[in-house]
Amino acid sequence: GGPSVPDYLSGLNPEQRQAVETLDGPVLVLAGAGTGKTRVLTTRIAHILASGRAYPSQILAVTFTNKAAREMKERVGVLVGGAVEGMPWLGTFHSIGVKLLRRHAELAGLRSDFTILDTDDVVRLIKQIIQAEGLDDKRWPAKQFAGMIDGWKNKGLLPADIPEGDARAFANGKGRELYAAYQARLKTLNACDFGDLLLHPIAVFRAHPDLLREYHDRFRYILVDEYQDTNTAQYLWLRLLAQRPRARRPAPANASAQGFADAGARFIPAGEAVEAVDQRVNICCVGDDDQSIYGWRGAEVDNILRFEKDFPGAVVIKLERNYRSTAHILGAAAHLIAHNEGRLGKTLFTDRADPEDVKVKVHAAWDSEEEARAVGEEIEQLQRQKHPLNNMAILVRASFQMREFEDRFVTLGLNYRVIGGPRFYERQEIRDAMAYFRMVCQPADDLAFERIINVPKRGLGDTTVRLIHDQARARDIPMFQVSGEMIETDELKPKARKSLFDVVTMFRRWQGLLETTPHTELAEIILEESGYTDMWKADKSADAPGRLDNLKELIRSMESFESLRGFLEHVSLVMDAEQNENLDAVNIMTLHSAKGLEFDTVFLPGWEEGLFPHQRSLDEGGRSGLEEERRLAYVGLTRAKRRCHLWFVSNRRIHGLWQSTIPSRFLDELPEPHVEVAESENSYGGYGRGGYGQSRFDTQDAFANSYSTPGWKRAQANRTDATRSNWGNRSGVGVERVGYGESGPRARTIEGE
Ligand code: ATP
Ligand code: MG
Repeated sequence: GGPSVPDYLSGLNPEQRQAVETLDGPVLVLAGAGTGKTRVLTTRIAHILASGRAYPSQILAVTFTNKAAREMKERVGVLVGGAVEGMPWLGTFHSIGVKLLRRHAELAGLRSDFTILDTDDVVRLIKQIIQAEGLDDKRWPAKQFAGMIDGWKNKGLLPADIPEGDARAFANGKGRELYAAYQARLKTLNACDFGDLLLHPIAVFRAHPDLLREYHDRFRYILVDEYQDTNTAQYLWLRLLAQRPRARRPAPANASAQGFADAGARFIPAGEAVEAVDQRVNICCVGDDDQSIYGWRGAEVDNILRFEKDFPGAVVIKLERNYRSTAHILGAAAHLIAHNEGRLGKTLFTDRADPEDVKVKVHAAWDSEEEARAVGEEIEQLQRQKHPLNNMAILVRASFQMREFEDRFVTLGLNYRVIGGPRFYERQEIRDAMAYFRMVCQPADDLAFERIINVPKRGLGDTTVRLIHDQARARDIPMFQVSGEMIETDELKPKARKSLFDVVTMFRRWQGLLETTPHTELAEIILEESGYTDMWKADKSADAPGRLDNLKELIRSMESFESLRGFLEHVSLVMDAEQNENLDAVNIMTLHSAKGLEFDTVFLPGWEEGLFPHQRSLDEGGRSGLEEERRLAYVGLTRAKRRCHLWFVSNRRIHGLWQSTIPSRFLDELPEPHVEVAESENSYGGYGRGGYGQSRFDTQDAFANSYSTPGWKRAQANRTDATRSNWGNRSGVGVERVGYGESGPRARTIEGE
């Protein structure tokens, strides 16, 4: 026989092996969830290293998150036996971009110690520029323009490249000018924003072909995971590094409009003929068009379709065997995603057909509190059967949904961790709001005072705060007390004094209401009167609606407490709960940040119209918005290895009113043979609410009728009728039948890098 097969190859199926062993020339692996795409990439790196084809430093590998990069490095280490010394070019687009830019900063007009601005810095800077132009920054909000710039940068467009219409859209046609002023200002400050981390290297490479050639020689192998979610800038960056031009051609007349301003050393823009490209580029991209979920942030699934054009002779490999999920889970996911049009279309199968396998379970709950309770019970039951919490995940559509689960788990003493974002009570808007509440309950809380004294902006800047701070320190009394005195003197300039007077008066009023006004009502008053809610309403950034939802959720979460003080105490306990990587803990995260991950048991709560599919996606994205939501549902289902639980609730509280909800259309799109409606013991039983104990419907019956009338719909209708009066009697809350659509939660979390 021939040479023996290395261990790391022996477990692969023939297609996976082909993807690993086809090292020369472009390779595209296009395959569904759980078919081993990431495993192929990891093994491919191991193979390149083990066969001595390249040093670790000669491999460029792009992952979607830093966490994924760390994991990949570890796994390669295991495969080749021993730690992988330095894979310096394994990381996210951004982390690799920073590295390149630090090396060649001067060529981009920066020094190598340039700073990377965060979103707040960017907005502040843009605001200055807008004001310097003599424009009204209320009419032309900096946040909005920051979003536009980000969008242009995602498309790889510099000021000269932005289309006429786009440039006109802001400040009466000054968009281009402002964008250019912003870029110039960044240079003066020796700073860049996130988009620049890709755009600067692109510009440098275009302007310096010799340098680009060095990188062509360096990067013998390029690998990209989650290729379906690359945006245009990332795609341009990749192609620059991957395509070696053999001949140069002059730029076409419309070059600048496409973002190819630098003629001469240019490479071939999208959609053009590519005969001038060296075809033997060792690039391997893996992706799944059905998992493209970042379209709203500029990702272009078309990059996949373009691959074969850009890299003629590319070997396209399909993987069809899923190693992750049971046949039921896979069947449900495949049937759901088949409702999308314009798919490339893939086959997926699994050999796993264990009689022990359970169907995907759909549960109904009365409201989100009960949903969290029931999920908690389910988890405890699994825990009693010795299933590790680490292998369970709750994947939510919108981050405000996390709060109820976090609270419930703290009550139960169940460990949990939130992945890819802060925990609910750690979010900026929640901390701000809590600082207000703390100041009302406890006026001596100086940390809270400093946090919100000028949020929203009231002209109480650093100088004023410092003055108050120093006096408070010197006399060892609270800052609020100092403020109270200062408004009686003329230590402050009249404007600041007036502002401080207003704040102190407000707080005194709220403190006076503390004992007389119901605490949730008081909380609402505080957020309204302080201008805090309005601050976010005026905010044009993409995350502002989500923050408003979180604030509403915060108020809602107070209802189960007696007083504001009791609530504050509870939150400090929640905050104290350990967030430890090594702890066995349930994972909570958004669907967006669950990409690429897998868990034995997955809980998917909130499958209701307006929440999932999310109302905003429907409003703004039309059909394509809905299809992206469906892909998100597909991503959610396919994270599960063995057990998958879906939930919908009959009522969510929106704007202080109970509103009936409609089960998600995605539930209707699940195939009968792979799905069952959970029996009532699992979802309703045992909570001591009259009327719940008896099953209102028969599971067998659930799918017996026509497909168009799924069991849970009827079940839900029965339940709602049977239980509404109970609830109403119990809590005195009237139930209003209002369509969920218009006022649905609008949270949207940005996850990824
Ligand atoms: P996603 O689209 O969700 O990112 P993926 O295609 O990247 O999925 P992987 O995460 O690489 O899939 O693999 C899914 C699971 O299947 C992993 O647990 C992986 O270890 C396992 N797996 C992949 N290939 C094989 C194989 N040939 N034999 C056994 N297990 C495999
Ligand atoms: Mg993967």
